[in-house]
Amino acid sequence: MTTDVMTRPAVLILLGPPGAGKGTQARMLEESFGLVQLSTGDLLRAAVAAGTEAGKAAKSVMESGGLVSDEIVIAILRDRLAEPDCAKGVILDGFPRTAVQAEALDALLSETGQKINAAISLEVDDDAMVTRVAGRYTCAGCGEGYHDTFKQPQKAGTCDKCGSTEMKRRADDNAETVASRLAAYHEQTAPLITYYGDKGVLQKIDAMGQIDEVANGLAAIVKTAAP
Ligand code: ADP
Ligand code: ADP
Ligand code: ZN
Repeated sequence: MTTDVMTRPAVLILLGPPGAGKGTQARMLEESFGLVQLSTGDLLRAAVAAGTEAGKAAKSVMESGGLVSDEIVIAILRDRLAEPDCAKGVILDGFPRTAVQAEALDALLSETGQKINAAISLEVDDDAMVTRVAGRYTCAGCGEGYHDTFKQPQKAGTCDKCGSTEMKRRADDNAETVASRLAAYHEQTAPLITYYGDKGVLQKIDAMGQIDEVANGLAAIVKTAAP
């Protein structure tokens, strides 16, 4: 292995439909590998909350379960990738979601001589996704994700990580929106599985198992792809 490869920050992509566990797993990888999670969903929700121009344009699209324009999402991701902490290596959670975004990412990475170490597809059944999304909630203090059935905090209503008792649910986590989001995934994002397969960086993982089982499988992939 050359020095260049060893010092180049890792770039990992998590692909998967809404509720596949991308956010949950990205946070765990952040803790165990010191990587930085970049969630375009989180960045867009922050832009909506801050009332920026991008946030104003994104709000109604997100509420309807469609995809925000490539232009807006690519600009947000480009700015975030340029921040110094990304030198630790990044896990892209929810980006790219279209072919245009995938090509823009390739162009951005080539500017800095970086490469994608692995694009990992979290493979799940659509039926399970509705249950996962409907039961999802998040700590308002630290962003830790929970689920009504599958991941409850040790003490009901209190975050295990930060002790906050304020939990929040996403406005778009309802049955109608999930159907649109799943359709958008199949139409626009699933083709990226072939895109990354052709580049030789695709890895698939069964994400129907328990959170810890999926995490163990992912850790093994990351150790090999981004040593
Ligand atoms: P995504 O970021 O892909 O939309 P999340 O990581 O937010 O998905 O997970 C969606 C919901 O499902 C959350 O409530 C999370 O706690 C729960 N969850 C995540 N992974 C699993 C799993 N392997 N089994 C059961 N529930 C899970
Ligand atoms: P999930 O994976 O659980 O559906 P995210 O938090 O990743 O949710 O995304 C929430 C919403 O934000 C999406 O339904 C979409 O409207 C918008 N969004 C997030 N990332 C992108 C992206 N890369 N391209 C276009 N829209 C995006
Ligand atoms: Zn918390």
